[in-house]
Amino acid sequence: MNVVILGSPGVGKGTYANFLSEKYNTPRISTGDLFREAIRDETELGKKIKDYVSRGDLVPDEITIELVKERLERDDCKNGFFLDGFPRTVVQAEALEKFKKIDKVLNFVASDRVVLSRLGGRRTCRECGAIYHIKEIPPKVEGICDFCGGKLYQRSDETPQAIKNRLKVYREKTKPVLDYFRKRGLLVDIDAKYPFEEIDKVIFQCEKHLQGWV
Ligand code: AMP
Repeated sequence: MNVVILGSPGVGKGTYANFLSEKYNTPRISTGDLFREAIRDETELGKKIKDYVSRGDLVPDEITIELVKERLERDDCKNGFFLDGFPRTVVQAEALEKFKKIDKVLNFVASDRVVLSRLGGRRTCRECGAIYHIKEIPPKVEGICDFCGGKLYQRSDETPQAIKNRLKVYREKTKPVLDYFRKRGLLVDIDAKYPFEEIDKVIFQCEKHLQGWV
């Protein structure tokens, strides 16, 4: 099943998508992770996009669409994927539907208060990309990833200024993507207000919509 994961920055998309990916043994493809890896490895792509990402602006559509198209053509995606962080513009959504049939769009929803608290407390593993939260999902040892021992850091787009910009970009550019998929009857809202200890309540809602598919 080909699933798109949508929702405001900070709603927990990455955490939920990782959980679903493990549960259904289906890859999670995150454009944010692909971009951060390219920046970390200082590739040509990384150099081109670094400033967009650290400001919290969107990377231009042509670059992003090409990257996703190539990634989804790989063998591991032939039986399905959870696509996290793409599409973020209507142009990207239209392009995606030209090269992949989308079966379901899960739209995670939480209040501004929840979203801001999740963004401010997030820590990410520099090595494997695992996601933590200083209060909701603390690592066993402070600053160290439970899975790979890598160092945890606060993303460069998690300064108050960049967070503000990402939320603005989301409202202006990504909200129309929700309507785009809603009109096609593909989008379902998932209530993501629950704290991480209650992640089952969020996953349960997803499962209802994925039943018989994945
Ligand atoms: P994320 O990890 O999904 O929050 O993405 C982090 C950053 O990567 C975003 O703020 C953008 O700068 C960039 N990015 C991720 N996905 C996209 C996309 N679909 N289109 C454009 N830029 C993106």
